[in-house]
Amino acid sequence: MHPKNREQKRARAAGTAILLAMLGAAGMQAELRELRPGFNLFTTEQDVQIGKEAAAEVARQARVVRNPELDRYLNVLLRKLEQSRYARSLESDGARAGMFPFQIHVLSDKNINAFSLPGGPIFVNTAAIAAAENEAQLAGVIAHEMSHIVLRHPTNQASKRNLVALPALLASVLAGNGLLGQLAQIGIGFTANSALLKFSRTDEAEADYNGAEMMADAGYNPMELARFFERLEAKTGRQGGLIQFLSDHPNPGNRAEAIGDEIRELPRRRYVVDETGQFRKIRELVQHLPATEPLGRDADEPVRPNGGLRSYAGRTFSLAYPADWQAHAGAQGDAVTIAPAEGIVPGADGRVSIGYGMEVNYYVPQGHAAELQRDTDALIRQLEQSNTEMRIGREARSIRVAGEPALLSTLYSRSPYRNQREVDVLVTVVRPQGLFYVVFIAPESQFDSVQGTFEKVVTSIKFE
Ligand SMILES: [Zn+2]
Repeated sequence: MHPKNREQKRARAAGTAILLAMLGAAGMQAELRELRPGFNLFTTEQDVQIGKEAAAEVARQARVVRNPELDRYLNVLLRKLEQSRYARSLESDGARAGMFPFQIHVLSDKNINAFSLPGGPIFVNTAAIAAAENEAQLAGVIAHEMSHIVLRHPTNQASKRNLVALPALLASVLAGNGLLGQLAQIGIGFTANSALLKFSRTDEAEADYNGAEMMADAGYNPMELARFFERLEAKTGRQGGLIQFLSDHPNPGNRAEAIGDEIRELPRRRYVVDETGQFRKIRELVQHLPATEPLGRDADEPVRPNGGLRSYAGRTFSLAYPADWQAHAGAQGDAVTIAPAEGIVPGADGRVSIGYGMEVNYYVPQGHAAELQRDTDALIRQLEQSNTEMRIGREARSIRVAGEPALLSTLYSRSPYRNQREVDVLVTVVRPQGLFYVVFIAPESQFDSVQGTFEKVVTSIKFE
């Protein structure tokens, strides 16, 4: 179908949505039975690419729950729903084609919400699982989110909004990374809270319809999807303020009635609300997850040093460090990074940062011998320049290192671990080679437990 005709078709669908409020669901049902994808400038491969990049961004910014039992359970629900032909992508002639690579993750978050990104990723907040009364309601939320992906609503919205710059941009991008960044430059964002993930009432009617079909195919009572939305609406009244799930997925009007009409059109069958028998146990598990996860990336693997010390000998100094950490000497000079394997965090841009461990090096001032206070200040300014979020904490303390006067400065910055502030303790000593320094790095939540180790390292430092 020519794009222009598709637009007309969608315009008609929108008109129908307004009529519905007066006439009941019958007209919309006829319209929905012939679902057609909206106008879209993106390829399905670009949907997948955007989703992949945006999901990595979500994983960096939100608290992803890593619980094998929970993940296994949600994947069982996902696979059940994937059996439906309504889980397949919708062609312009209404036929169903390939399957998007769906993935599901839980975010530790008190807001009742769930969202999907183009091309496959689905995120469900812990509060949304806790708010469901039964497995069918949770399956309904997942089916509804899968439907936005299948019907390609976010890229459809972006296509309608930016008809000028978008076609050229999409034609020029090569496969690979960076599509999200290029779209952001023309004002199109797909990450959480993007306007493109707040859906129109027409999109909602379509996702309800498609999702209800998926639920029915999987044997879940589709009415539970409508009941879940109704429960949230009731909660909204009590809690004041709109639950985010409802502001992103607004009621297209008579949600329950529309789904009820849809079920009547389907062959009669027995529906269940729980298929796995595990829902209550899983909801219990979610309600008792730790409130915060100190290290988003490796929450279940403690990285704290838990053994003896061993010694590292540089050319001009030696020191002791935790035996279960590894020393990585720099290519030149006396630079060395010492960290546990889990302390090295790969970033989205391919670079790695040290989230946990220590770095040793010299700062060599230009044109004069090192001076403790002045060059410590200069070093801190240099660190601040490479890390705009860094700020200085408590006032520097005078200490002694290997019998020499030294300064201990405390800095704060953003940790590469999710939702963590980082503590950087900088120890500086004047040496003939320049200003010798050690930076101890740890996420703030872990700092108290490693402070003792850092002190042992400081007292072990010897100069040749
Ligand atoms: Zn929705």
